[in-house]
Amino acid sequence: MTLSMDISNAAERSVSTRADYTKASLIGLGREALRLALIDIGVSEKQSKMRASQLWHWLYVRGVSDFSAMKNISKDMRKSLQENFTIARPQIVTEQISEDGTRKWLLRFPPRGAGLPVEVETVYIPEQGRGTLCISSQVGCTLNCTFCHTGTQKLVRNLTAEEILVQLLIARDRLGDFPHIDTPQGAIVPDGGRKVSNIVMMGMGEPLYNFENVKTALLIASDPEGLSLSKRRITLSTSGVVPNIKRTGEEIGVMLAVSLHAVRDRLRDELVPINKKYPLAVLIDACRNYPNVSNARRITFEYVMLKGINDSLEDARDLVNLLKGLHAKINLIPFNPWPGSNYECSSQEQIEKFADFVNQCGYASPIRRPRGQDILAACGQLKSESERLRIKERLALEAMISGHGEN
Ligand code: SAH
Ligand code: SF4
Repeated sequence: MTLSMDISNAAERSVSTRADYTKASLIGLGREALRLALIDIGVSEKQSKMRASQLWHWLYVRGVSDFSAMKNISKDMRKSLQENFTIARPQIVTEQISEDGTRKWLLRFPPRGAGLPVEVETVYIPEQGRGTLCISSQVGCTLNCTFCHTGTQKLVRNLTAEEILVQLLIARDRLGDFPHIDTPQGAIVPDGGRKVSNIVMMGMGEPLYNFENVKTALLIASDPEGLSLSKRRITLSTSGVVPNIKRTGEEIGVMLAVSLHAVRDRLRDELVPINKKYPLAVLIDACRNYPNVSNARRITFEYVMLKGINDSLEDARDLVNLLKGLHAKINLIPFNPWPGSNYECSSQEQIEKFADFVNQCGYASPIRRPRGQDILAACGQLKSESERLRIKERLALEAMISGHGEN
């Protein structure tokens, strides 16, 4: 999804600039790759494991972004690291903070062959007991889901493992979620515990078409001696790249969300065209065989509510039948309209009817009445169309991002 949310009344400011892209970054290298990078600059084979562990701790437990802060590393070693590598954060073009604590960062990364620098958005939503970060995996997308704004944009490039991981590091920097950084005054974050407690790979792009980089980044994010996010709090969303679904379970081990959106091949071929390659029967089969699925580790099926297209009670019945026997949750997402889109969001009444039906059939499918719900009720009274659009966008985003993974 394109996280184009414009946070109304948000404080917006430019935060930082990083100019030096000439040196290789140590962020986003797995443990073994980090060790080999140290050997490349002359660290002995014998010392390399210990040095890599020291660095790992500074980067991912302490969250430092400057070699000079690494006090237990000798001056000579720090100098050598400084000469050869960088651990600086990328440029934060803007940071928006809304009154309810939602934050959006616009990050700029170097072109890496793409012509111009690329920009990516990362969104943070705090809730009772949790704070969820929505991360992007690509700039643009090769797929063309007809209701998705990203689907209208060509793939510019895959993000590197560094660029995927650094979205988490920046959120933790800015929220004071590392030991040496204070939480900014007045910031809305969960009480106690982690400020970023959950991750969803639901930003721009199809994560399973950038499998290796996503895998590397998520394994670092969940490394118990580093960032140590539980894999049950990380959710990867796919449109249905079937061959990589099993690999996600086996090699990454995170929670799975599947963008279903239709329960008949003819309609899904249109809405989520990857369905022509991997139709429903094949997709559902891959979900049935997803490693470690249980009642406690259910697969989320995302279902965008499109007026008159997929929102009838017949669709709800077929949805329940399709998922029979699967440990599944259903997440109904109000369609987020964008200029030029050909769909409308189902009415609140229809969404509730649909949800009631699937709930009665035993599937948890909460309709979120998030903080914006009171505003939505007043939606008709809002003066400007753009104001109304902004609120719809916000509700869609909250429905999409909230409630995934364990609390
Ligand atoms: N490419 C992956 C992950 C990114 S999209 C995927 O498709 O799953 C994240 C979620 O946002 C998906 O469920 C997607 O279908 C949904 N989405 C995209 N555009 C949307 C829109 N305009 N309104 C509501 N949900 C949307
Ligand atoms: Fe959008 Fe589809 Fe790409 Fe997901 S796979 S980002 S829904 S175009």
